Amino acid sequence: MNPWRSISLWMDQLSEPLTPRAALSHDLQADVAIVGAGYTGLWTAYYLKRQAPQLRIVILEAETAGFGASGRNGGWLMGNILGEDRLLADLPSAERHAAYQLLHGIPDEVAEVLDREQIHCDYRKGGVLYCAARYPEQLSSLREHLKHLHEQGLDESDYRWLTPFDLGKQLQIDKALGAIHTPHCATIQPAKLVRGLAKAVAAMGVEIYEQSAVTDWQTGLVRTAQGSVKADWIVPAVEGYAATLPPLGKHQLPVQSLIVATEPLSKEVWAEIGLERGQAFSEFSRQVTYGQRSADNRLVFGARGGYRFGGRLRTDFNLTQDERELRRYLFGELFPQLKDVRLTHAWGGNLGMARRFRPHMLLDQRSGLALSGGYGGEGVGASNLGGRTLADLILGKDSELTNQPWVHRQQPLNHLARWEPEPLRWLGYNAIIKSFVHEDQVLADLTTAPWRRRLAQAVAGALEGFMR
Ligand SMILES: Cc1cc2nc3c(=O)[nH]c(=O)nc-3n(C[C@H](O)[C@H](O)[C@H](O)COP(=O)(O)OP(=O)(O)OC[C@H]3O[C@@H](n4cnc5c(N)ncnc54)[C@H](O)[C@@H]3O)c2cc1C
Repeated sequence: MNPWRSISLWMDQLSEPLTPRAALSHDLQADVAIVGAGYTGLWTAYYLKRQAPQLRIVILEAETAGFGASGRNGGWLMGNILGEDRLLADLPSAERHAAYQLLHGIPDEVAEVLDREQIHCDYRKGGVLYCAARYPEQLSSLREHLKHLHEQGLDESDYRWLTPFDLGKQLQIDKALGAIHTPHCATIQPAKLVRGLAKAVAAMGVEIYEQSAVTDWQTGLVRTAQGSVKADWIVPAVEGYAATLPPLGKHQLPVQSLIVATEPLSKEVWAEIGLERGQAFSEFSRQVTYGQRSADNRLVFGARGGYRFGGRLRTDFNLTQDERELRRYLFGELFPQLKDVRLTHAWGGNLGMARRFRPHMLLDQRSGLALSGGYGGEGVGASNLGGRTLADLILGKDSELTNQPWVHRQQPLNHLARWEPEPLRWLGYNAIIKSFVHEDQVLADLTTAPWRRRLAQAVAGALEGFMR
């Protein structure tokens, strides 16, 4: 079997043979050299080529298109970016409203491209259900979250409260307490999107070289083992693999997220559970869980991140029994009828986390660098925004996209916040993760004394706040 098939359920489901494109075997000159054929690199190439077809654009990919997080993710295409409320908080309300509109429009923008380029990736825009079910504190956190969103100027059409009865019309989970629904999200089959995009940009004339890892980069030049590309612009679009392009790794750490998929479930099971319109769902806690019903009727469910000392990449995603069972436990709490279901796929991937836990889109004219990343596990939609923004920045446009608080214009790479050196990073990251796990365990045990519950919440909340 082609080893790339085992990357994820999604890559396994592709009907194409996954034959790699040719590797770079000579030196060449281009206008734009993009490193990485994931969503960021491909969206950037797409929007550049549409606006400036004369540009010579070359993409260098270490493995094959979709090898990274873009071929492995949970398939939530969100009209949000990580930390948007913090990024937008200080804007005058009219500008903040416009920025939210821009973000909320991401799934529709992607849908338009899918239609135009005939990319079929099981796109369904059913929104997200953020649910409270396992402990009462989730309910108060959800209510506070909704209040906060409404204070930002968002209204019921953006984020709506659902009683357990309302929620039950869309999703039946055990012991439901309440939920928030937002329409600004679609679910997709991630690998079909990234592979479809690669085909689309190749058809537009973008040159993609696969199995061509960039080993060295500097202003105007990237090198692989067998060739090099001289270019006016270099776009490192490697997200969770930033450590492969020093010094980028100082600003974007690799964090791992792990995910499982069940066998296709019967009509009867789905009649009990729901999720008929492609809704994504999450159980609202600091544990970050994410699920969707795939087009072929599996439950796909991911949770929690991990970080390796020194920012080492994880390359082996054969999940251990414990890793699989933890995810089974988490979805089994919501869907007791699935506790013993067969898991056919379990995998994970590296994603990029920026020091301030929010994405950046940066352009430095002097060094010819254009960069988008730090999506922190919310990059499916954000990378589309990133690609559009980088295209405008490179083309020298002054547009709505280039005037957002996440855009750093005419700034060098070291303008971005750096992660602390080791062992501080590892200690900090693990202290946070441990406090989140502890909080979750304490709260999920409904017999725990109130003071212990409050303490666990306070510690996790304080650590989370401190890191930001
Ligand atoms: C398990 C998991 C679940 C996720 N779920 C969601 C979700 O549901 N919704 C959401 O919004 N986000 C999710 N994410 C995050 C999202 O998938 C990523 O943010 C997004 O795919 C990043 O796209 P990218 O193109 O920037 O990076 P990638 O897709 O990682 O692409 C980077 C590419 O660069 C290549 N590369 C690396 N180094 C080099 C080099 N030196 N030379 C050449 N090529 C190189 C890699 O092979 C890779 O193909 C998830 C991530 C993971 C891992």
